[in-house]
Amino acid sequence: MQNLKEEVIEFAQKLNSTNLSPLRSGNVSVRTTINNTEGFLITPSGIKYELLKETDVVFLELNKEYDFLKIFNSGLNPSSEWRFHQDIYLKKKEAKAIVHAHSPHATAVSAHGKSIPAFHYMIALAGGDDIKCSEYATFGTKELSQNIIKALEKRKACLMSNHGQVAFGQNLKQAFELAEEVENICHQYINTIKLGEPKILSFTEMQKILEKIKSYKKG
Ligand code: 13P
Ligand code: ZN
Repeated sequence: MQNLKEEVIEFAQKLNSTNLSPLRSGNVSVRTTINNTEGFLITPSGIKYELLKETDVVFLELNKEYDFLKIFNSGLNPSSEWRFHQDIYLKKKEAKAIVHAHSPHATAVSAHGKSIPAFHYMIALAGGDDIKCSEYATFGTKELSQNIIKALEKRKACLMSNHGQVAFGQNLKQAFELAEEVENICHQYINTIKLGEPKILSFTEMQKILEKIKSYKKG
């Protein structure tokens, strides 16, 4: 069976190979427990995904406040976005894996700082009747993390203003697939608004879809 560090590397490399996130952008993590300590495995900061080795994947504790400036240059640091990964795992018990991507269409929509309304029923995959866009804050900050947690209220994915998107799931495969769905929805949304104001599905219709979509995906 594939170990979790190998899985982190596989999905980090998939960020590049599927064009979901180019070069060193984005990051992935998976929740795990090591030696009875709850935490998560996360990609290191600023390393090209094609070069990743198992020993580069960093384990961080769930309930520990880190100050990485102190250990800078003394080994590989975890992703600069470790705070929002940690906060998502702390706030969302159902989150077992997280994918952050600078995917092209999600990033384009995020630069407008707007939520995506229910122009398509597949919006429901992210958990609500819209996909929210978190307010802008500098990458790697606590403020960015707090903004993301707000945008993820009752949701499994959100856009990040002037940055990209983040999605979580019950495993890396699910989280990655949701990030791909969000990217696809953003692509469709950009095409849709080129034709003018779209017709938006009603709140009642979206409640029906949110119920129905629970039994939609099988494998
Ligand atoms: P890291 O290489 O530190 O994970 O940064 C990539 C990124 O997308 C920051 O938002
Ligand atoms: Zn980023």
